[in-house]
Amino acid sequence: MSSYYSPTIERLIENFEKLPSIGHKTATRLAFHMLNLNEEGINEFINSIVEAKKNLKYCSKCFNITDTDPCPICNSPKRDQSTICVVEDVKDVVAMEKTHEFKGVYHVLHGSISPMNGIGPEDIKIKELLERIKNVDVKEIIIATNPRVEGEATAIYLSKLIKPIGIKVTRIAHGIPVGGDLEYTDEVTLSKALEGRREL
Ligand SMILES: [Zn+2]
Repeated sequence: MSSYYSPTIERLIENFEKLPSIGHKTATRLAFHMLNLNEEGINEFINSIVEAKKNLKYCSKCFNITDTDPCPICNSPKRDQSTICVVEDVKDVVAMEKTHEFKGVYHVLHGSISPMNGIGPEDIKIKELLERIKNVDVKEIIIATNPRVEGEATAIYLSKLIKPIGIKVTRIAHGIPVGGDLEYTDEVTLSKALEGRREL
């Protein structure tokens, strides 16, 4: 595609276009917005990205993204360490936290089992979950993976591993549309799904 802009501006636009939900028009607008910033503004923007990336680490207990290890949730005396909510993604923790209903702690799998995409149990944080529950007295594991084929498969796989240990395993109820994302589910629906969880 021929461009009306110089190659350097075009490169900037292309980089904005790589961001999720950003089309060519928006990318162009953002690129020109950046060009209009003064040097201080640009440095602040760039440094915030560099710092975020540099400080990014995962909680060694729950694998949530955090600035401190353990993360504030794992470290909070107000949270019930004996109830663990298992989610696929860091963004799902945020979705659950927004409900203000859940007082336990989390375990982020960083994905779900998907043989179609070549993702097996060893590719996500299942081993770490099993290791973790060996060392603490866990009363209940709530599986809040997404209601998709992969999320369901992961839930069944986990329950088969965990139930024999003698821990109660529950699955959040289906108020969440099948094929939906926890991340995009409203707080009320998610609260209800948590409340209506059933034992696996
Ligand atoms: Zn944590």
